[in-house]
Parts: sequence; structure tokens; C-alpha cells
Amino acid sequence: MGSRILVVEDEPAIVELIVVNLEHAGHTALRAGNVSEAEAHLRGALPDVILLDWMLPGESGIAFLKRLRAEKRTRELPIILLTARAQEPDKLAALEAGADDYLTKPFSTKELMARIKAVLRRRAPQRTDEPVAVGGLHLDPGAHRVVASGKALALGPTEFRLLHFLMTHPDRIYSRAQLLDQVWGDHVHIEERTVDVHIRRLRSALERSGHDRLIETVRGSGYGLRPE
Ligand code: CA
Repeated sequence: MGSRILVVEDEPAIVELIVVNLEHAGHTALRAGNVSEAEAHLRGALPDVILLDWMLPGESGIAFLKRLRAEKRTRELPIILLTARAQEPDKLAALEAGADDYLTKPFSTKELMARIKAVLRRRAPQRTDEPVAVGGLHLDPGAHRVVASGKALALGPTEFRLLHFLMTHPDRIYSRAQLLDQVWGDHVHIEERTVDVHIRRLRSALERSGHDRLIETVRGSGYGLRPE
């Protein structure tokens, strides 16, 4: 399953190398040469991962990282810091600023891909192909299959992604805007009531096996999945 990856890097040769490898691996690469270009991307849909260079013209990558971690919307966005610095104190500073991982240039693209995969598995399990089971529901992203109490369910693609996200993030309530960001990848151009429509469809698909009771509505706040 491909992810959307924002590459914030000012050295064209490195950008090319990364982008070619991301696309080869089936990901979609977005490019930004500095922080303001990166911010323009983030105003729309949130990417699944950010690869962020430390030394950028203008605001530094690490200052930007700290700002992203201070904001509710981007607090949990997986971010891998890229840098030419190799000293240990720098690595510590990167992790303390909130980087999920840290890669020193020059790095092998094989290593970069492995780190991206690891960060996604840790921070965004709904972006991986690993099967997930909650409260008698089994979802297999690779096979695009949901089984409830032993019976396969027919779900539309959006309901499938929505259920996948909720199953990988149980016991938390997400606002409509957060669900739009996480499931649709866009909280700007899609109306919030779209979420209600798909939650309703998801509930009715789960009704037969009684799993609709796992989907929780918190009036005025949003939705979540509560395993019993
Ligand atoms: Ca740089």
C-alpha cells in the first residue's frame, strides 16, 4: 500500500535520489525546498510521513519540527530527520525535538526505505498491510478483506479505510476533521458531514454480526472504536 511522503530537502540531487526510490516503492512523493513550501503542502492533506532535512535555507528543519510537535494537528505525524551532522549530541537533539527517527547523510536508500516502513508501522499502522483483529473483527488490508464472526463483510473502499483506521486506533475519539485528515487525507475540501455518512454506512454493514456496537459516537466530539 503506497503512502504519501513529503520530502523537505534543499539539495536537488538528494531530492531526486529520494523521490525516485519512493516512487519505485509505490509511494507518492511531494517536494518542498524549504519550510514555507512544506507548510503549503500541510495546509491541504497531511502526508503519511515527512522526511525533513535539518539544514534548510531560512527556518531550520529542527525548528520546524518543534513547531509541528507543538501543534495538535501535526503532533503525531511521523517525521524522519535527515542530516549531514554525525555527532551524537545532534542525534539526541533531533530525538528530543520529536523526530521519530534520524538518518545521517550519506544514507543508503535501502536503509531509508526500511526506516520509513518501521516508522509507519509504529506511528500509522493503518498505512501498513498488517492484519488487525479487534473484538471479533478481522481486517486484512493486503487482501482487502473484513471478516466478522467468521463471515466476510462487503465494505466500500471508504468504509474499509475508516474501519482500518479505527481498528488500529481503538479507545480514542477522533473529531470529524481528524478523521478526514487520517482517512480521506483532506480536511479542507471535504465537508465534515461526509464522515457521518460513511460512519452510518459502516455501522449498517457491521449490524448483522452485532459489531456496530463497537463504533462509538460522542456527541459534539466525534467517533471512535471501543473494543469490549
Ligand atoms: Ca540541506
